Amino acid sequence: MKTWNFAILGGGMVAGYAAKQLVELGLKPGDLAILSADTSVPYERPPLSKGFLAGKDTEEGIRINAREFYGAQGIELRLGCEVRGVDAGGRRLTLASGEEIGFHKLIVATGARPRTLDTPGAGLAGVHYLRSLDDSKAIRERAGGAKRALVIGSGFIGMEVAAVLAQKGVETTMVLRDDRIWKQFFSPEMSGFFESYYQARGVDFVKTASVRELLGGAAVDRAVLDDGRTIPCEMVVAGIGVRPVTEPLAASGITLSNGIEVNEYLETSQPGIYAAGDVASYQDVLFGKRRRVEHWDNAVSQGQFCARALMGERAPFRHVPYFFSDVFDLSYEFWGDPAGADDIVHRGDVRSNSFSAWWLRKAVVVAAFTMNRPDEEREAAPQWIESRQSVSAAKLKDAARPVAEAADPAHS
Ligand code: NAP
Repeated sequence: MKTWNFAILGGGMVAGYAAKQLVELGLKPGDLAILSADTSVPYERPPLSKGFLAGKDTEEGIRINAREFYGAQGIELRLGCEVRGVDAGGRRLTLASGEEIGFHKLIVATGARPRTLDTPGAGLAGVHYLRSLDDSKAIRERAGGAKRALVIGSGFIGMEVAAVLAQKGVETTMVLRDDRIWKQFFSPEMSGFFESYYQARGVDFVKTASVRELLGGAAVDRAVLDDGRTIPCEMVVAGIGVRPVTEPLAASGITLSNGIEVNEYLETSQPGIYAAGDVASYQDVLFGKRRRVEHWDNAVSQGQFCARALMGERAPFRHVPYFFSDVFDLSYEFWGDPAGADDIVHRGDVRSNSFSAWWLRKAVVVAAFTMNRPDEEREAAPQWIESRQSVSAAKLKDAARPVAEAADPAHS
């Protein structure tokens, strides 16, 4: 059995960014193995539902590190390699092939896999999910020959994929269970803005609805909704959330609960074994609660953090949760956690494509959204959330004043 100083279980964004950071910190050749079930060199995931799907980005262009980087740095990158089990005490991994690999320290970054439809007809050709590069390629190819698409779910995948399909000229209908889009994050005013923006660009919404059945011959050609309505479509993309991948750890002795439980150092219940990215349920020291974040920025920052931990650094992971999205010609960003907010302040005109929204809890900023806003707002958002800044809602609402004037020194 070969033993590596460091191993990373999972070859996604965490692995790509951790490897890069380890090299910057002086990783020795032969010290790191990355075991990836994916068959592609670690790549950025955001373009899969944006630029790559639209045909603007190339496969090489979205790699986190060039293919040659791994060999040149003496990193063993095993692709198409399935890990079946983790023996935490024995410090070894068992592969599907039966081979065993030893490690001294490990980062578990197994990510998540899409939830699948249990609707009759879900197995028909033309029904897609989007997680991997291969999934994105398959949707891109299918969209080339499709006139009409049905998108199920109005989360990130649904909204981003619907925007790309509509821009490709595919007539797109989105079916969502809620009565408005992105209800989880957006105020009703914000949902209203995005719905109008999408509708003006040809996307239809069917709200408070679900798909009862998918029908077709060789491939899907229509969907029947729970109210009996039929929607013709040559392709379906379901973005109905993901589940953290923890199966290889089932008998590891590592504590699992909503993913892999880690402390504020991103360390699992087994010392020297860390978890990062979509699979890690971590203790957030800023908000004083446990959370699992399924976004790019989290995978990047936790991958880099764990690399520093492998090299001996020990400090809590302090990070304001963040995500961004690009839909049509809009780009927006979101920081923090709106849970428990008692006020939402909008700044700018919510009917235009330039506004921000600020979630307050007892006048303290807990979350913020900005779209086409001055840099001072983008900079204030994470700083205020991290420092638990109190603000004057009335001043914040007044977009004619610099945003800094809303910070209330009496409460800061
Ligand atoms: P998501 O953002 O969690 O959204 C899932 C959506 O599916 C929700 O609207 C949910 O509605 C709905 N849903 C769940 N079960 C359903 C069912 N059985 N039938 C119909 N609708 C159902 O997940 P996603 O869009 O699938 O994205 C997958 C992952 O990729 C997420 O982790 C996401 O954060 C990540 N991602 C992130 C970005 C970004 O950061 N910009 C972009 C793309 C993907 P309810 O609220 O009613 O449950």
